Amino acid sequence: MSDTQEVSEHAASLADELDADVDEVEERLKNLLEYSVPLEEAERTVRRRYGSDASEPETAEATDIAELSPSDSRVSVEAVVLSAGRRSIRVSGDDTVITEGELADDTGVISYTAWDETDFDPGDSVRVEGEVREWNGEPQVNVDSSADVRGIDGDIDAVEEPYGVRSLAELEDGDRAVTLEVGVVESEEKTIQGRDGETEITSGVFGDSSGRLPFTDWENRDLDEGDSVRLENAYVNEYRGIPQVNAGEFTTVEEADDLDVDHTPPESDVAETVSKGGDFDVVVRGNVLSVKEGSGLIERCPECGRVVQKGQCRAHGDVDAEDDMRTKAVLDDGTGAVTLVVGRELTEKLYGGTLKDAQEEARDAMDKTVVTESIADNTVGHRWRVRGNVSVGDYGANMNVSEMEKADDDPADAAREVLDEF
Ligand SMILES: [Zn+2]
Repeated sequence: MSDTQEVSEHAASLADELDADVDEVEERLKNLLEYSVPLEEAERTVRRRYGSDASEPETAEATDIAELSPSDSRVSVEAVVLSAGRRSIRVSGDDTVITEGELADDTGVISYTAWDETDFDPGDSVRVEGEVREWNGEPQVNVDSSADVRGIDGDIDAVEEPYGVRSLAELEDGDRAVTLEVGVVESEEKTIQGRDGETEITSGVFGDSSGRLPFTDWENRDLDEGDSVRLENAYVNEYRGIPQVNAGEFTTVEEADDLDVDHTPPESDVAETVSKGGDFDVVVRGNVLSVKEGSGLIERCPECGRVVQKGQCRAHGDVDAEDDMRTKAVLDDGTGAVTLVVGRELTEKLYGGTLKDAQEEARDAMDKTVVTESIADNTVGHRWRVRGNVSVGDYGANMNVSEMEKADDDPADAAREVLDEF
């Protein structure tokens, strides 16, 4: 029997029991199941929705946050609200506003999601009921739609204070209701296929004195390069190991006093960056071991920018390809290897000439690989300081390089190497 059939049968018997409309009951059940709520719990929730308290479990005593585990079914928590962010999500075709954030008591901190919009704010003492689920390997409280969410008398001691302005360096995947004061370092409008068709968004890079992170403003507000802004109720999701700041419908964006976004990117090593699953704007130093195939003179599709082979684009077929240059090189720093992906401007420097020079050299030699060989001669065997964004996938680690300079004679490196020998 398929899952859909099973849900329909449960919905039918539940609707019968509650004397309710079967389609409506089925819809509610499906919504809950979509969020991996166990069927039994979903049925309980639907019963409560229809005012039936059959098989309603006893309200538990408040549990310490440190004691919560995904094996708990229904729990009750008394805690201070550290953050309460609203976000609109689409469930089975309907937009629903949920509240997300963190709760703390005197034993610990836990994330929560409330499936109904709540009216509590950071600093409020609340009692919430729901179930504990695992999310990103951590327990999280799912405050369900009919849970009792109310303020309690008296203050609760908590291990954390409600968060103030956060720094970019401390943000992690899953952070909600984040307040930031940042500068817009890069900004670009884009058209994407959203859930309601084509939509305009703004994406770019935010900076503060702690670091830089990519952002997306789904409401396409005016975020221009050089602006300083204060965001409230932003949220963070991870993409390829890198946290991304999101500004949504409920995020407020206001002009802020001019911020200094000067920032020296942190030094890292390949092993550390790979173990984090990626890194945004880091510096790595190591030796270039080889220059890979697909380096030197390449051809790109004028429509989508993809590299094409023999004038054939994967997406656009036979195209009038445009010449470009790039370098893909393997850099090893002793802890691991990363593939550097270097764009045209820096590749011209590595080659020691312009795209036009490269085209001429290739034409004279009737062979494009002479260009690749020149790049290899100038890079392989040297020590480099590279800056860029690292992403890690099944194919290994790639760094999109923004700066690349020789570090052969770097006294700091030499000193470090000498020290390493002891
Ligand atoms: Zn194409």
